[in-house]
Amino acid sequence: MKKLEGFEQIGFKVNKEHHVAYGMIDGFKYLVNFLANQKQYSIMLTVLGDNEDILTTYMNSLEQNPIVNWSFYRDQTIVINIKNTNELTVTDLESLMKNLSAFCHTNGYVQSCPHCKEEKGVEVCSVNGENVLMCSECFENTTASQPVEKPVNLPMGILGALVGSLIGVAVWVIIYKLGYVAGITGFIMSVCCFKGYELLGGRIDKKGVYIALVIAVVMLAFAEMVALGLEIHSVMNEYYSIGLFDAFALIPTFLGDSEIVFGVVKDLLSGYLLMGIASFSYTRNIHHMTKTSGVNERLG
Ligand SMILES: [Zn+2]
Repeated sequence: MKKLEGFEQIGFKVNKEHHVAYGMIDGFKYLVNFLANQKQYSIMLTVLGDNEDILTTYMNSLEQNPIVNWSFYRDQTIVINIKNTNELTVTDLESLMKNLSAFCHTNGYVQSCPHCKEEKGVEVCSVNGENVLMCSECFENTTASQPVEKPVNLPMGILGALVGSLIGVAVWVIIYKLGYVAGITGFIMSVCCFKGYELLGGRIDKKGVYIALVIAVVMLAFAEMVALGLEIHSVMNEYYSIGLFDAFALIPTFLGDSEIVFGVVKDLLSGYLLMGIASFSYTRNIHHMTKTSGVNERLG
């Protein structure tokens, strides 16, 4: 089943940006999260009742259902995790929710707000990027009491990313010395830049993500030049004594040699390639976080 496909057919609203579908089934409000990374669905329903044992037993029996990964009932919240296969259809999910609604009606469970623990209608809210069910009063309170984010100290953030990148340079040079070009250093480089920005800048914002990435890219090339300079120094030193500075001054001359340029380009490409692959999900997560952190929204 493709991402949130067909939920409109069962009367649900779909919000693709927030990866969520929601709607009423037999008097109960359901929220279905699409977990993009795991390719799973997570059904959520908030209820309260007198007899928790019956519901727990029901939840356990649900795990016999072939489409269910796992499920639980905690803090007035039912969560049912669904395996997303090609065969899965929205009708499967609908019938599961219908059964659950019928079970709740039969056993005296009513919809509740898991925050104030009261019997209440709930709304779908996005709180700090997480889709949850809560009553409108609790949503107002959560939004009002949320601490205002401290501003990012941009110069300190950039300094932090630069300091972090030096760790990446050191790792690259050491690995180069050992005779390897490990592209994973590209990943280490970008993480060091992000962390450095975060530590000195206070937190990482969207601008910080881009700045840290640019620094990581530039500093990887710098690291390659340092490694090359050290290599020139150690090779030349076998014949005559040459200072480090003089060796580094020779780098442009050596870069005139097509074989050396080829080696450098190859090193850097593998570094950037793995930097790209390895930092993709990291960057995406940070990006998502910076977009949603501190942002609350009432979806419906
Ligand atoms: Zn509430």
